[in-house]
Amino acid sequence: MNNNRRNNIKIVTFSILILLMISFVVVYIFSKGNKEIKTTKLTQLKNNTNRQMMGYIIKTENDNTVVIDGGTKDDTENLIQWINQQGGEVHSWFITHPHIDHMGAFLKIVEETEIPINHIYVTLNDLTWYEKNGPTEANEINEVKEFFDVIQNSRISRVVQEVYLDQNIEIDNLNFEIIGVKNPEIINNGNNNSSMVIKMHSDTKTVIFLADTGEESGKKLLENQSDKLKANIVQMAHHGQNGVTEDVYKAINPEICLWPTPDWLWNNDSGEGEDSGDWKTKITREWMNKLNVKKNIIGKDGDQTIELP
Ligand SMILES: [Zn+2]
Repeated sequence: MNNNRRNNIKIVTFSILILLMISFVVVYIFSKGNKEIKTTKLTQLKNNTNRQMMGYIIKTENDNTVVIDGGTKDDTENLIQWINQQGGEVHSWFITHPHIDHMGAFLKIVEETEIPINHIYVTLNDLTWYEKNGPTEANEINEVKEFFDVIQNSRISRVVQEVYLDQNIEIDNLNFEIIGVKNPEIINNGNNNSSMVIKMHSDTKTVIFLADTGEESGKKLLENQSDKLKANIVQMAHHGQNGVTEDVYKAINPEICLWPTPDWLWNNDSGEGEDSGDWKTKITREWMNKLNVKKNIIGKDGDQTIELP
């Protein structure tokens, strides 16, 4: 064997070795990248009619489904699709307060489907309190009564639980901390001011759901829960206007805002173009701009899912 030939063999062997090593590295990286990384998925549901509504569906790391409110009766179909996509069963359902734009879809799902719901969390005053303090619209008290009837006399009545302040509810990798409950002493804007306020903790992120919290219960949050208010993500109170004051958002100081807000409300449009209404959404939007919020996720733009690591 001459020297040239020996050198050639060496070069070929060396090249094959290098190629093998590269392919091992590539296969390793590829298989790692393909491995499903477990995350929590939080979806803000769109308004399926022109009405304002609020609904969130969460998928935990190990595929448990949690629902917060759910929207009006006309939003039911979309919510059912989401529940079915996530396995067809609700592990836990939080109802923030008995207003039809929050619990309408819940009523229909309990009454008209067999979808299993394992835990239902509420914060409720007595029915007589809502009769005296709640109603702002003619039909409202009938809707509250329907809600009371369903949670007391239907297939789910045994799994309904009243939450308490500072309760921690652990669901898979998530912790739901109850930082606000009913406030029977606040009778102005009563039903909204008795909204449940939830702080959800994932491994690295926090989300505050303010529901329809108004100015008065917002002040109570600032007084009693100021150390808990900082969060990465916030659901804007009362659909983005006439909810809590700017101070509450300053204390939360979020990076992302979730707006359960239809088109007309986002643009303050009473039907005659932008800014023709007297809603306060534009003022709230300005507050959040000042806080340098990075992202606004708005109900008018459709169902939107964010992943929480
Ligand atoms: Zn509402």
